[in-house]
Amino acid sequence: LNVRQESVNDLLRSSIELLEMKLEAENIILRTDLDPNLPPMTIDGQLLIQAVLNLLLNAVEASSEGKKIHLRSQYDKELGEMVEIMVSDEGPGIPEKIIGDIFKPFFTTRARGTGLGLNNVKRIAEAHMGRVEVRNGFPNGVCFTIQIPVQ
Ligand code: ADP
Ligand code: MG
Repeated sequence: LNVRQESVNDLLRSSIELLEMKLEAENIILRTDLDPNLPPMTIDGQLLIQAVLNLLLNAVEASSEGKKIHLRSQYDKELGEMVEIMVSDEGPGIPEKIIGDIFKPFFTTRARGTGLGLNNVKRIAEAHMGRVEVRNGFPNGVCFTIQIPVQ
């Protein structure tokens, strides 16, 4: 783990930059809501970018033309000083019968998937004493939340 003091919002902006051309080419709209009051975090910035990119790429893959992806950051003091990063989409969501398997290494439903993306996200969150959660949206879509404690 290569940690230093980072601005999570700047890391999120770097992740977005890497995706901008793909979003444009596929005509997918990215909306961002970055909490201006996030505390600085002592984390591995390259790993966090990787984790967020994995979530954003999955969201793009689940999205058809004209759909929206929402990237949010939020400082949650009630939940024991957590910084939360949320990626949600308007895709088909995840069937209940596989939702317990998606974080397992090599689990994929895609013809060319590796099944390593979400396992990587989980490992990166846990390396920072955090966690990742998934929740289906209503009426559709899915929302992934990375929570990292502030120390
Ligand atoms: P891969 O992308 O290589 O399939 P991941 O670990 O990133 O591997 O994802 C595992 C599986 O979780 C995917 O194959 C897909 O079934 C499901 N999944 C992940 N993200 C989404 C999403 N945003 N919408 C719908 N299904 C998803
Ligand atoms: Mg993936």
